[in-house]
Amino acid sequence: MKELELTIRKQKNIALIAHDGKKKELIDWCEKHKEILSRHFLCGTGTTARMVAEATALPVKGFNSGPLGGDQQIGARIVEGKVDIVIFFSDPLTAQPHDPDVKALLRIAQVYDIPIANNRATADFLITSPYMEEEYTHKVINFQENIRERAEQMK
Ligand code: PGA
Repeated sequence: MKELELTIRKQKNIALIAHDGKKKELIDWCEKHKEILSRHFLCGTGTTARMVAEATALPVKGFNSGPLGGDQQIGARIVEGKVDIVIFFSDPLTAQPHDPDVKALLRIAQVYDIPIANNRATADFLITSPYMEEEYTHKVINFQENIRERAEQMK
């Protein structure tokens, strides 16, 4: 499959999501890394974005609440190249009504080679990576070529 080189810029678009049982932990994490986070653009699912913004005074653009489509909005922005990193503190011990959306987000982040942290340790490693302060070039599936090839094959 043909690939395309994409560059994640120095100033990154970071999406923040926490399930209810993990919101305190994410807020605490954001406070700890506030200085680094303040150098990037933040967004998140509705409730998480509001709570992080109130607790840290960092600007966080809010989408819909997760169960009402917020995870899907973030997934769509990954596809459009508008979200570069996802910090997603999911709760492994509680069933979620929007589990299919959560899976879809994990999948699309994988397809587009987007760094995604689903626990605090991974988030700590990610946010302190030297790549946070530089451009990062990676390869993703060439979607135009992919459409052309598929359409050609199915003639
Ligand atoms: P919320 O959504 O930030 O609106 O609570 C998070 C989620 O459960 O996906």
